[in-house]
Amino acid sequence: MRKLAAGNWKMNGVENSLAEIDALIAAHPAPGCDVLICPPATLLSRLSDRASGSAIATGGQDCHQNASGAHTGDISAGMIADAGGSHVILGHSERRADHGESDALVNAKSLAAWTAGLTAVICVGETLAEREAGQTIAIVGGQLAGSVPDGATSANTVIAYEPVWAIGTGKVPTLEEIGAVHDDIRARLTARFGEDANGIRILYGGSVKPSNAAEIFAVPNVDGALVGGASLKAADFGGIIAALEQA
Ligand code: PEP
Repeated sequence: MRKLAAGNWKMNGVENSLAEIDALIAAHPAPGCDVLICPPATLLSRLSDRASGSAIATGGQDCHQNASGAHTGDISAGMIADAGGSHVILGHSERRADHGESDALVNAKSLAAWTAGLTAVICVGETLAEREAGQTIAIVGGQLAGSVPDGATSANTVIAYEPVWAIGTGKVPTLEEIGAVHDDIRARLTARFGEDANGIRILYGGSVKPSNAAEIFAVPNVDGALVGGASLKAADFGGIIAALEQA
């Protein structure tokens, strides 16, 4: 399995930020892992053009569940593909919290992504209160069951386990805690989708940095990372890519 370093720029980035892509390509012209950058929608087309011919894939941070129509402010999966994207992040905890996205909606968006030929990067993860209540495995398992549609394959789906309390906080679960959740996700995926699900990448996300990436990537069933803050600068993201290449 090729591991995956995925960057989520969130609501950060303007024209000047494209220089980071040039620097990333220059530093990692032939990375030993897959590399994905999901910029804000306004930059996707420009970034895709800039990364064209390189090993860097691009994607969106969300899409609407419908293919087109009267949905002011939204973008469709087909529009992401049209702008050069190959992936779309779905069900990120910030969208679940800020926009009330349910598992059912994430499921519908994932189907829309597949229909447009995109790979869905489906995010799951518990809040701090849920972890402290000992509910992590149940919460993540429930999100997985509800958010991932029937028909998921290693080609059309990536799972990102992102504890909500670890995103942008500098806090990271212990390696044992990460391993326990990733093992459980793998077991649920193979039970539901069969042998092919051993090839579905399960990313860890939440305060991954160059300094902690290697130890996280050494955990079994951690097949890469979804990275927020540290994906904005080529030097930081490059350090994470380097760690993944060694894993
Ligand atoms: C994320 O937004 O998916 C994320 C993991 O953010 P950060 O790396 O900044 O914690």
